Amino acid sequence: MKICQICGGAIDFSSRAKKFCSEECRARYKYMRNRAWLAAHPEKAAEYSRRWREANPERVLKISRDAYRKKCIARIAEEQHEKNSV
Ligand SMILES: [Zn+2]
Repeated sequence: MKICQICGGAIDFSSRAKKFCSEECRARYKYMRNRAWLAAHPEKAAEYSRRWREANPERVLKISRDAYRKKCIARIAEEQHEKNSV
């Protein structure tokens, strides 16, 4: 019986290569590995994100627009909250 490396659950094994009990655990493992790698290689991480921004200018725009919109909405909500509480 194999044990999932992420959640410790038993793996219902259909293939020998399986290390995780579910796609979710596999994704989490990938994410954690990625995070660890980025933390260990900050210059390369910066280089990668710079290249990604160069390759995806429209997505960068969208992300910053969304962030700006969220900030505006949060500020409006805060102002209304202040008005209501006074
Ligand atoms: Zn698992």
